[in-house]
Amino acid sequence: MNRLQPLIVGAGPAGIRAAATLVQAGLRPVVVDEAKAAGGQIYRRPWLDDGRSAAALYGSEAPKATRLHAEFAALAGQVDYWPQSLVWNLRAGQADVVQEGRHRQCAFDGVLLATGATDRVLPLPGWTLPGVFTLGGAQIALKTQGCAIGRRTVFVGSGPLLYLVAWQYLRAGAEVAAVLDTAPLTAKAHLLRGLARDARVVLRGARYAAELRLRGVPLHFGVQQVQFEGTDRMTGVRWSKGAVACDAAGYGLGLRSENQLADLLGCQFVFDRRDRAWRVQRDDSGRSSVAGVYVAGDGAAIAGADAAELAGELAALTLLADRGLPVDAARKSHLQRRLAAIARMRDVLEAAFPFPAHWVDAIADSTAVCRCEEVSAGDVREAVQRFGVTELNRLKAVSRIGMGRCQGRMCAAGAAEMLAAATGQPIGAVGRLRGQAPVKPLPMGLGVADEESAA
Ligand SMILES: Cc1cc2nc3c(=O)[nH]c(=O)nc-3n(C[C@H](O)[C@H](O)[C@H](O)COP(=O)(O)OP(=O)(O)OC[C@H]3O[C@@H](n4cnc5c(N)ncnc54)[C@H](O)[C@@H]3O)c2cc1C
Repeated sequence: MNRLQPLIVGAGPAGIRAAATLVQAGLRPVVVDEAKAAGGQIYRRPWLDDGRSAAALYGSEAPKATRLHAEFAALAGQVDYWPQSLVWNLRAGQADVVQEGRHRQCAFDGVLLATGATDRVLPLPGWTLPGVFTLGGAQIALKTQGCAIGRRTVFVGSGPLLYLVAWQYLRAGAEVAAVLDTAPLTAKAHLLRGLARDARVVLRGARYAAELRLRGVPLHFGVQQVQFEGTDRMTGVRWSKGAVACDAAGYGLGLRSENQLADLLGCQFVFDRRDRAWRVQRDDSGRSSVAGVYVAGDGAAIAGADAAELAGELAALTLLADRGLPVDAARKSHLQRRLAAIARMRDVLEAAFPFPAHWVDAIADSTAVCRCEEVSAGDVREAVQRFGVTELNRLKAVSRIGMGRCQGRMCAAGAAEMLAAATGQPIGAVGRLRGQAPVKPLPMGLGVADEESAA
């Protein structure tokens, strides 16, 4: 009996490597990706060919981007590729997809989730003002449309993406008014350890910071009590030791995995203390706790693009092995060793760019936490006091936090931090919002496609 095709969700580095690995073994996967063109976040492509070269778009990562784009192009005719298609629900063996405003289903045998990450933020005064973007959002505007989010932009937050996006803006000719790093300068001493582990990563980051500095961009470290100012739209950023006028800001405090689809399939989760986040439980080969469900890339754990490629290939090899197909054991071990080395480097980066969890206590009651349902920090604190809430789903039930269009993708991390602080519990004890379909907003009046399945 013919088996159904395996499904890969996401065509970033993890999904592309996974697809290539399955094709090489003679399988024909279905690859569903929300983006218009394959490449994922880091190797995202412009919507229209606007003449920018790979070097202009991807800097030092241009050769990798070009190779991966070419690798996916070479799979044409050997995979069923569904671009601009969102998997909004997953059940055992069946995916619900929205494609160009039409509902489509895909039956599958085995699924590899390579759904990547999104920005992690804490609510701050003024963060919902027009002009305030996430760091990732600011970068997407630049990569896909070649446009800046403002005339004069400040970049605020923590993590390697902070310096990368500021540098990309500068290089594209935009005015960068300041970089406000929430980590103290002393935290950067951890990068010395990183030199021994992966000098290339450390030197690349140092180059971004140095170029920003040389081009006159002020870099401030240990920035506290940040607020975005303005009435109709933002006009500046203020912090405890200064202020800067600007009309836009890119803001982010690291990344969080997009793992709601694994939740819908019943996969177990584990709490990662270093990342202060729940991630899908997986073995060292990419298997989740549910048979036939594999996870890879930043959607499984934040580890960067190189790790995503390795993990995508590893999870695909595991899928093949579980189907009884021959797999090169030496290659698997090699991938596992390289992933372990990258994970050690992640420890360094997390120490150099720590998440400012202590900010939570200072969030003013009037600050919006859940922008979809307009729930403020004061509402969260009142719910805790009034109903004795100690768990995140209960907080959702009594406050409506995370009940809106984004399903908590933007507010859940901040709400969990607030709940932990308000109840005096460790962050891992407050739980996580259960995934619900649709995992992302759907268009109203969804049509039904004629074709019901790709298989
Ligand atoms: C906005 C943003 C910008 C980033 N920029 C950089 C950068 O410049 N440099 C860097 O080193 N790292 C960057 N990162 C980190 C980056 O995510 C990883 O290094 C790398 O891209 C991870 O690869 P991946 O394959 O795991 O996921 P991704 O590259 O994120 O690819 C996941 C793909 O899955 C798709 N997807 C997700 N959910 C669904 C769904 N439900 N249905 C269909 N498709 C879905 C997404 O649209 C995406 O195309 C960025 C992260 C973010 C969030």
